Amino acid sequence: MAERLVGKAVADAMKEELAKKVAGLKEKGITPKLGIIRVGARPDDLYYEGGAKKTCESIGMAYEVFEYPADIQQGDFEQAVAEVGANKDVHGILMFAPLPKHLDERKIRALIPVEKDVDCLTLGSAAKVFADDLTGFPPCTPTACMDILHYYNIPIKGRKCVVLGRSLVVGKPVAMLLLREHGTVTICHSRTENLPDVCKDADILIAAVGRAKMVKANFVKPGQVVIDVGINEDPDNPGKYCGDVDYAEVEPIVEKITPVPGGVGSVTTVVLCKQTIMACKMQNGLA
Ligand code: NAP
Repeated sequence: MAERLVGKAVADAMKEELAKKVAGLKEKGITPKLGIIRVGARPDDLYYEGGAKKTCESIGMAYEVFEYPADIQQGDFEQAVAEVGANKDVHGILMFAPLPKHLDERKIRALIPVEKDVDCLTLGSAAKVFADDLTGFPPCTPTACMDILHYYNIPIKGRKCVVLGRSLVVGKPVAMLLLREHGTVTICHSRTENLPDVCKDADILIAAVGRAKMVKANFVKPGQVVIDVGINEDPDNPGKYCGDVDYAEVEPIVEKITPVPGGVGSVTTVVLCKQTIMACKMQNGLA
């Protein structure tokens, strides 16, 4: 039976640390604040927003939701985002994407100041992540994967890491973070040949494909660590979620595995707060 890499334990330990950091900043008269930019009211966005607010409250951080109607026009929204970006009280910005189709998302993203871009929405942040410039924030999900590996003392240096998925939100940045810590990284995608064999060769397998239960028993071997980033509707249990890994098949084989739900997803809003606090410190010349 595999060890379950439970996200809550990681999140709780991080929150304890972050609460101390927030208290320290408040003693200096500074309250770190997250600005959440939301257009419309998609249920997924509202769900994540609720989690982010709860996490902020639990560690004493401030937040403000900047909410706009789904039919907001490009010019008005550009102005609104620029204003949030210039707001000195806001240290980190989360903007829900994708934006409605009539908006030019690339142009809007570029208006977020890189130093406040705590979820890597700008090309400037992505460049910093790829250049190992620690003043750039990776997206929260890849950072959550790394925080889980660190919390459970899973060595990365020199080990074979296979990342399944090459999106700019998860696959590519998590590959860069593993590489930064001296993992030997392979990135797989929809054109990869012999995918199960490539995955089977990993010491650490990160699954981020967005396909329910795609990683089966033939993708894994004993001794592996499996981090499942997927959040999919469970085809076998309507109304429930499942990962990209077929947990029932894979768990009995591997050494350690994150559950879904209760794994990576439980850590992401804490990472959002961690990166906002870091941004706040940098903006105040304290880091
Ligand atoms: P995405 O943008 O759709 O990217 C999926 C990647 O998987 C692509 O690179 C794609 O390859 C690859 N892929 C798709 N089908 C494949 C197949 N049959 N064989 C091999 N590779 C395949 O998805 P994403 O945004 O990275 O998200 C991935 C998963 O993570 C989703 O389930 C999403 O819901 C979840 N997620 C979770 C969190 C969290 O907090 N836990 C946050 C973000 C995302 P190509 O590039 O060749 O098309």
